[in-house]
Amino acid sequence: MRIRPRPLLALATATALALTTLTVPAQAAPAAAPMPTSWWHDIDPRPSNEAVGTILADLAHRGHGRIDVRSIGETNEGRPVWAARVGHGPVRLQYVTQQHGNEPLGTPAAIEFLRTIGVGNTFWHKWLRSRVTVDVVVRANPDGHAHDWRYNYDPTADPEYGEQGKGYDINRYHNPSMAPEDNPAPEAAHIQRAYAAFEPHIAVDYHMQGQYLDDGGREITASLLWPTNPGVTPALVDAAKRVTVVAQQTIDHLAGGNVSQYPGGDYEGIARNAYGLRGSASVLLELSAMGEGHEQVQIRSAYLVMLAVAQTAADGSANRIDPARADAIPPRGEPIRAVAVDSGD
Ligand SMILES: [Zn+2]
Repeated sequence: MRIRPRPLLALATATALALTTLTVPAQAAPAAAPMPTSWWHDIDPRPSNEAVGTILADLAHRGHGRIDVRSIGETNEGRPVWAARVGHGPVRLQYVTQQHGNEPLGTPAAIEFLRTIGVGNTFWHKWLRSRVTVDVVVRANPDGHAHDWRYNYDPTADPEYGEQGKGYDINRYHNPSMAPEDNPAPEAAHIQRAYAAFEPHIAVDYHMQGQYLDDGGREITASLLWPTNPGVTPALVDAAKRVTVVAQQTIDHLAGGNVSQYPGGDYEGIARNAYGLRGSASVLLELSAMGEGHEQVQIRSAYLVMLAVAQTAADGSANRIDPARADAIPPRGEPIRAVAVDSGD
């Protein structure tokens, strides 16, 4: 039997987060105990794309019209790229997961987020949905997931970013100057079109990295970064840093994790940079691939960030965060274990 996170706990989480975010100074933040895990286990970390479609259809049914499920296009192998929208508020958020096929854990987190926000129907749920609209690309790279590799699937590929005979690195093909119809990576083109139609204020991209230690020898559970391309306006960099602080506070103080900055590049084809250049507060989140025994905790951690970013956008508390707190997040330290997923955001 699958035990699902329940709305009341989501509400408690969001409330606790708002308190954490607003009242705890960055320097003096206590090491809070992780939330109890008894209400969360047995989430499938790697549902097939068929299963994702089935689960989303079930959520659409249970949501009584509050969750709008669609495919934003097909992959080279003919799989649908599933997306779902919830809420009808003026603040627009886009969450994208699993651009890299072998970085799976953002996808089940997104499914549980949609379940919580779209199926639950208390006063809090109604309030949240009246304040924000969240559009979720639930799995950007279904072919890469099926092949358990980073790239999309394209045997004809001879890419600048990707691997010849294998496929394109989707997260290098979001260049604002590249029209979707000219994009050699169809999944990136689908996301470009979904982005242009939605124009989100906030865009968060979920990935996975290898294992690292901080300077004190404690394992890093997730890393975060805002746009670093020099063309992104300072106001949008600050807006992205505020969202980064929300995510960091959530992971460090609610999910029991340990966040660092992510050492990402400036290239404009990376979603984090591209959607910053196009006008969003754009943030990258990299969950560490800590092994099978940590997967439920990592899924829950991403799920809590999805909730927290929506909550703090809805109540406006994110706007009151000092963006300099993001600069104070420590850098990522030494690798414990190099893994295949670890090739940049
Ligand atoms: Zn990645």
